[in-house]
Amino acid sequence: DRPLLKITDLKKYFPVKGGLFGRPVGWVRAVDGVSFEIFRGEAFGLVGESGSGKTTLGQTVLRMHGRTSGQVMFDGLDIHSLPPKEFHKTHTRMQYIFQDPYSSLNPRIRIGDAIAEPLLAHRLATRADVGEQVENILAQCGMAARFMDRYPHEFSGGQRQRIVIARAIALNPEFIVADEPVSSLDVSIQAQIINLFSDLQEERKLTYLFISHDLGIVEHLCSRIAIMYLGSVVELATRSELFLNPIHPYTKALLSAVPIPDPERKRSRIVLNGDIPSPENPPLGCRFHTRCPYAKDICREKVPEFRKVKDHHQVACHLF
Ligand code: SF4
Repeated sequence: DRPLLKITDLKKYFPVKGGLFGRPVGWVRAVDGVSFEIFRGEAFGLVGESGSGKTTLGQTVLRMHGRTSGQVMFDGLDIHSLPPKEFHKTHTRMQYIFQDPYSSLNPRIRIGDAIAEPLLAHRLATRADVGEQVENILAQCGMAARFMDRYPHEFSGGQRQRIVIARAIALNPEFIVADEPVSSLDVSIQAQIINLFSDLQEERKLTYLFISHDLGIVEHLCSRIAIMYLGSVVELATRSELFLNPIHPYTKALLSAVPIPDPERKRSRIVLNGDIPSPENPPLGCRFHTRCPYAKDICREKVPEFRKVKDHHQVACHLF
């Protein structure tokens, strides 16, 4: 199987301004050498705390930021080297869903028009049939046609996220980066939106990069999951492997916060010391050593290699 998306040693650094004439005085290493592949039709989860670089990674993949180095291949195309015209053509095949459904919609545009506009601009609909197409797309996202003439403020958070999703799928993309798409919603609504992502994935053969700070949310949707910490992926495995045999101490800590429905089984909660350090001057060696309960001398000196421990399971930790 050829991957739809292949990321190789991707880095994205942002300059810290403040020197003479605005020269950078340092670099924020938001994404610092990430590699993984996503296969067609797969929902791939990317999980980490805020400050881990997961949003920057998602946005750099879609060229919303230039890269510092590395490569993003989408269906054989080198995204960051494409001339603007070529990129524009490819861009409709890739969509980004932002975290906040409140600010993603223009308050002065009726939702029917918000979905019709990209369809008309890309000539995927004519004035004569755009209404019907918008109705169909809204219906697929669980929204009635009578909502077309309403404005965003007339909807709840969950409904707005359905509208944002409808707009994202209107251009018939193959790949969607969904950045914390349910974290601003009530827990009771979150499951409905996750189910919608899952239904659309099946109906439209979509491929997702699904970003979240919560392993419990990606558990229901994603078949493989990468754990990100301070700009790097520290563990990557299939869902079952990650939940049954987590290896990295950071993954174990994240997992210990996910509730188990079965009252007989319990995970003991692992509470990490302190906050995630600044990506401006990340710790040397293993970046997790300042919070890791198992840190040894080597962890402070040497960066652990990202290694395969078995099929479909890779980890970066000196303990293994
Ligand atoms: Fe902890 Fe060392 Fe493993 Fe890093 S390499 S996670 S500090 S044990």
